Parts: sequence; structure tokens; C-alpha cells
Amino acid sequence: MNEIIERITESAVRDPKGICYQNGSEQRTYQELIQESDRIANLLQGKFLPKKSPIIIYGGQQFEMLVMFLGAIKAGHPYIPVDDASDPSRIIQINSVAHPALVLNWSEVEDFNIDTPMVSKAEIEEAMHSDNNIYDSALSIGDKDNFYIIFTSGTTGTPKGVQITTHNLLDFVDWACAEFDYDNNHELMLQAPFSFDLSVFDIYPGLVSGSTLDIVDKDTTKNFGKLENAILNSNFDTWISTPSFFEMCLLFRNFNHENVQNLHKFIFCGEELTHATAQKLLKRFPKAKLYNTYGPTENTVAITSVQITPEFLVKYDRLPIGYIKGNMHHFLDNAVNEANGYQTGELLVSGPDVSKGYLNNPQQTERAFEEIDDRIYYHTGDMVSESGDGMLFYKGRTDFQIKMHGYRIELEEIDSLLGNLSQVKQSCTVPLYNNKKQVSKIIAHIVLENEFKELNQQQLNLQIKEELKKTTMDYMIPNVLEFVETLPISSNGKIDRKALMGKVNA
Ligand code: AMP
Repeated sequence: MNEIIERITESAVRDPKGICYQNGSEQRTYQELIQESDRIANLLQGKFLPKKSPIIIYGGQQFEMLVMFLGAIKAGHPYIPVDDASDPSRIIQINSVAHPALVLNWSEVEDFNIDTPMVSKAEIEEAMHSDNNIYDSALSIGDKDNFYIIFTSGTTGTPKGVQITTHNLLDFVDWACAEFDYDNNHELMLQAPFSFDLSVFDIYPGLVSGSTLDIVDKDTTKNFGKLENAILNSNFDTWISTPSFFEMCLLFRNFNHENVQNLHKFIFCGEELTHATAQKLLKRFPKAKLYNTYGPTENTVAITSVQITPEFLVKYDRLPIGYIKGNMHHFLDNAVNEANGYQTGELLVSGPDVSKGYLNNPQQTERAFEEIDDRIYYHTGDMVSESGDGMLFYKGRTDFQIKMHGYRIELEEIDSLLGNLSQVKQSCTVPLYNNKKQVSKIIAHIVLENEFKELNQQQLNLQIKEELKKTTMDYMIPNVLEFVETLPISSNGKIDRKALMGKVNA
């Protein structure tokens, strides 16, 4: 049996009626999770798909999504979670890269316009409640097999599928459970969509330790009143989110220890935790433990952690991302010595959490994963400083990947998609930073094709954004389109993105 499955089953055996999933008034037990995922495994094995072939699981943050994830692993198929807020073109892109054997569709979408066979919600529902629960666990996903594949922004207009094996995931789970004291008394807030690896911070450490996953779903997040109500009336004791999401919740005046008394631990990941946010948090929740963690999807969720204490707020203007997990190797590439004795360079990491690469994409894999002294190192693309005792500080990117509201975006991908439109001759997309060094806007500078130059710019703006929507996620649509005559060119003859970034942020 797969080891993650084995451990979740142990949670269910310890307390079958224990609540594993809560979403508003909906509560589901560990017993239901195990039983229903057995039936999904039965359904999948009955389809005789090619061994270990990936399957897409499409839906939101429902309990049934977790059932399907576990069912897929039991049946012997890694899963690709795709959020139902994604536009249909994303399924087409992912399908063309991953060549999945099947789509499990927990949504009302009737047709994804792909050749891959699809199982409808009605069929899945029927299987989940049938009596057919027999499957062959000898065929389940093994230690070195892919467990899940998460697609992230790529530079060429096509997303990259990060392959995470059971072994990668187990290592993360063991570390997270020990580092953050997960056990069956905990209720973890789960807000991230399941297509983002931040959700894994909750799902697997949570389920193997018998915790309750307390969902704050998309419908709640989108509605300010509903969100305030959900947060202020919550029972969760552990908060896991991007700093951006927490900052949004800081707008609720009563969001503090007096009103949300159970909440005593905050874990942040995915983007920079600013000094100001940490300060506000510790003011509102003076007794809470606050952790900053860091890690790319390619390293299985998170590989560093540190508790941010009031002393840290006094000592550092820019907060550390912490110490790297003990069983990983790392070094700073092209490191330079700073005046304070720290070293700064690109962080390269190797170890049990490092992915084997991007699915069916040897070119991008070769660019990001390098063998050095018999170890595979992942080039994080993050500039990091290291103190003498191994404390790491995030300094920025070596490339043009940004984070906006927690979303990972490659600026080159936006340009590549813009370049496919008939109106666009050339484009260069850059981030606008606010005074907290967070990206507040994405600005695309566009040189129009001649025949569009005389057209009304407001209309063009709408037209281009509408067309872009057909091929990309909402969060990647530039907030501002600026129509320009020319773009700056660097000395090597390329569009000078850095110069434009400097100009926009001057
Ligand atoms: P993702 O793959 O979506 O988790 O994004 C990973 C990237 O987010 C990293 O390579 C960093 O650039 C950034 N990131 C993640 N955690 C942090 C953090 N705690 N502080 C600063 N940047 C972070």
C-alpha cells in the first residue's frame, strides 16, 4: 500500500468518526474518506487505464476532490489537480502536455474539447456510493512514482507540470508534522485552491495526523461579508495561507485574539512575509506562534521555516525565511560576500524534497535541475542571503518570475500569450511594486501592429484583455495595458525588461 494512504488509513482506524473535512456546516469523517476513496479506486481500476498514467481531477475544494485524490493513488494513478476557476483552455494546455488517461470531472462542465475520456460527476457520485470497493493495492502508486503533478506558470505560454513523488511528499509531511506539531487535536484552515501546492501544507500533514481540514472556499473568499463571518466564527487553531490572504483578513477590525480565541498558530508560505504584516499580526494575536516558511512547488511545498518572534521584529527590517530542512544540501551560486558578513547568491537545493523535474518537458527540466557532485540540484531562481549560522533571507528573483496576491507568474508567459494576438507586434510586461515591495499591478507595454494603431485605445484595451482571457488565467491578465511606439532595447539587442521595470518603479 502507498505509505501516505497507509498513514491516513491509520488516522481513520484510530478515530473513524473523527472529522477530516469541514466546510461551513458540512462535516465528513475519516471513515467516509477511506470508504469512498476505495470505491473510486475500484472505478478507476475497472477502466484498465495504462499503468501509472496520470489523470486530471477537475473541481473546487469539495470533500469529493480529496476522495478522488486518494482514490487515484490507491488505483495507481498520479493526479493533476485543476481548479474549476480555471478557464477551459487551461485543461487543453495541461492535456496537451500531460497526455492524461482520464479526466475525473467534479463540475457541471459538459465538454472540455479534448480527446481524453472523461468521467462525469454523476458517474463519480454513483461509484462513490456503490458497494464496489475492491481494488488491488499492489497496483497503487509506489514510493518513487509520481503522487501528484501540479502545473505552474511557464515561460513559453505553456504551463510546466511539477512532478512530486510519494517519497518527496513523505519527506515534506514528516518535516511539517514535526516542525508545526500537527496532531489529531488540530483544526487547520485550508484556503488555498487544491491546484496550488500550498493546499498540500494542510491536506497531507493534516490527514496523516488525524486533524480536521477546515475549508474557507472560493465562494467564501470572494464575498467579503461571508469571509468575515467565516473567519470570526471559525474554530480553527492553525492558519495556513499566503501573507496576501491574511492581509486581506486584517481589514476585519474584530479579527484578533479576543474574538478568534482558538487561533494560536500562523504558518505563511508562498511569498514574502513583510515586517509590517508580521507586526500587525503579533499585535492582534500577541500569544500566537508565527512562522515564515519558504519553498518552490519544485521542492514540495516548503523547505525552510522560522518562528518570527517580537525580538525578530526589532532585529530585522526584512524578515528571514529561516533555516533549511536538516536533510537537504544547499549552496549559494555565484555568492558574493556582503559587508555584514552574510553571503548572497542564487539558492540551489538538493535532497529528498526535490522534484524529478517537469512532466514531458526535458528542456525546461534540464534548465532548472542540474547534477553537481552526484547530486541533483534545483535552481530556485531566488536570490538569498545566508548568515553565518545558516539563517536565510529572501532578496528577490534572478529571473522574471513574480508573485502577485500569492500567484506565481512568469512575465515571459504573459508576453508569449500577448504575442499570439493579432493586435500585438511586441510586448514587454513588468510588475509595479508598492512600498512594501509587493507587486501591486502588472503592466504590459504593447507595440501595436500598424493596422491597429489608429483604433480607439479604450476599445483595444478591452478587446485585448477579452482575447487574453480565452487563453490564460484571470490572475495573469495585466491590470494595465500601455500602448507604446517602441520598447527599450538592451546592448545585446533584446527587449530590455529590466530597464522598463526600473522606469515603471522609479
Ligand atoms: P510556488 O511554486 O508557487 O510556491 O512559488 C515559489 C516561489 O515563491 C519561490 O521560488 C519564491 O520566489 C516565492 N516564495 C515562496 N515563499 C516565500 C517566502 N516565504 N518569502 C519570499 N518569497 C517566497
